[in-house]
Amino acid sequence: MSDSVVVVGGGLAGIAAALRLADRGAQVTLLETRSHLGGATYSLLRDGVVADTGQHVFLRCYHAYRALLERLGVSRHAPVQDHFAIPVLHARGLSWLYRAGRAPAPLHLTRSLLGYSPLSPRERISAGRAVLALRDVDPADPHSDALTFGSWLRRRHQSARSIDRLWGLIAVAALNLPPDKASLALAAQVFRTAFLGERDAADIGVPAVPLRYLHAEPAGRLLERLGVAVHTGTKVMAIEPNGDGFVLRTRDGTLSADAVVVAVPHPAAARLVPPQAVPDRERWTRLGSAPIVNVHLRYNRKVLGFRYAAALDSPVQWIFDRTRAAGLEHGQYLVVSVSAAHGCIDAPAEEVRRTYSEAVDELLPGARTARLEDSFVTREPHATFHQGPGTAELRPPARTLLPNLALAGAWTATGWPDTMEGAVRSGLQAADVLDISRARPPRLRTFGEALP
Ligand SMILES: Cc1cc2nc3c(=O)[nH]c(=O)nc-3n(C[C@H](O)[C@H](O)[C@H](O)COP(=O)(O)OP(=O)(O)OC[C@H]3O[C@@H](n4cnc5c(N)ncnc54)[C@H](O)[C@@H]3O)c2cc1C
Repeated sequence: MSDSVVVVGGGLAGIAAALRLADRGAQVTLLETRSHLGGATYSLLRDGVVADTGQHVFLRCYHAYRALLERLGVSRHAPVQDHFAIPVLHARGLSWLYRAGRAPAPLHLTRSLLGYSPLSPRERISAGRAVLALRDVDPADPHSDALTFGSWLRRRHQSARSIDRLWGLIAVAALNLPPDKASLALAAQVFRTAFLGERDAADIGVPAVPLRYLHAEPAGRLLERLGVAVHTGTKVMAIEPNGDGFVLRTRDGTLSADAVVVAVPHPAAARLVPPQAVPDRERWTRLGSAPIVNVHLRYNRKVLGFRYAAALDSPVQWIFDRTRAAGLEHGQYLVVSVSAAHGCIDAPAEEVRRTYSEAVDELLPGARTARLEDSFVTREPHATFHQGPGTAELRPPARTLLPNLALAGAWTATGWPDTMEGAVRSGLQAADVLDISRARPPRLRTFGEALP
């Protein structure tokens, strides 16, 4: 029976685990190597502008993530659109992907797909059939994880244009890989949940404030209020089983705990988790990684008339208006988000800036005559794990061979891709596999219970 728990890693997974454990009456310490909480979701300051290192988006069906925002008291800063609708920019103008009318799923998509002008009428009908065929793909079936999404789409008679202009638009943003590299199992999980589940499941949410004000700072305040000892700037170097508990070594000394949640990225977990807990932990490194690049462009005036848009036939995949979120009162601050950014992760910043500002000029006529006042590039080489076929068997469950050491992180076996939803779910799962003594009565309001 455990009472003192150390959570290692202060990303969304570690924050979720720490909150749940504190709610359940445990005495929790959270150790984070960086100077701030939030992990992959954080912001930097540049010339007085708070810029996120990576644009983050979520869906209405991110129930665990949205429960976390609710618990942090910040839901109002993360609005979700009333109605799924994506403006799609291309050289010939604008098309829409949207949820039509009040029909139940999957009929709510029919009109949307039938009206999607970047595809031919035949391609639209065929896409509708493929959406319905996804009902027969079980994301938990190992066979689904042996195939790429692209190969499955081709077998469902999806043309190269359809894969590029419809499926790829969503897959690359959701899985950080193009359909030809992404696992069918993970793609099916995303498309089935978003488009074949609740009719409003795919409605898109975009943070209205920088991520550090949405996650890191409110989480730090709430954890402190709940009595969690948060130590940032504290790298855990080793975790050693010791009798019924553990000793954790940091640069500053050692710490004892009855139980541990390891909520760090998979390469760090492979080094930290003791072999008694998971003998073959080195295999996690085979999950690899995939990069995301964000190109930040500040114009002297408004050039994009939407809060966000997708783009076709362009190096731009998605573009976001972050002017108000960054607190800017004039001009427009756009962020181009480039997923699966293998082609530009190592390119010189000047080249990346030029490529994407020229691509924005192509898409937005107003940008050609506006003055570009500032531009910079942020790169996350290991933004997510490489979500290709064969990853399901590499993702470990929360429970390990040591009853009081649990694993968390968006890379663990959550059934979700490497997303904020997966991270929060993993933290909750890890907290729940630990045997907490409940020496103190749990709080009435326990975060993350009864999620769909
Ligand atoms: C640029 C970018 C864009 C993204 N866009 C989206 C999006 O639009 N929608 C979406 O849902 N998801 C998106 N994601 C993915 C999402 O951010 C992640 O899935 C999620 O934040 C991962 O959370 P985590 O807690 O599992 O891991 P992390 O956030 O990586 O947290 C792990 C923490 O452990 C700490 N740590 C590591 N080693 C140690 C150690 N030895 N001791 C102590 N602490 C340690 C790290 O510093 C880090 O803070 C994006 C990611 C990136 C990078």
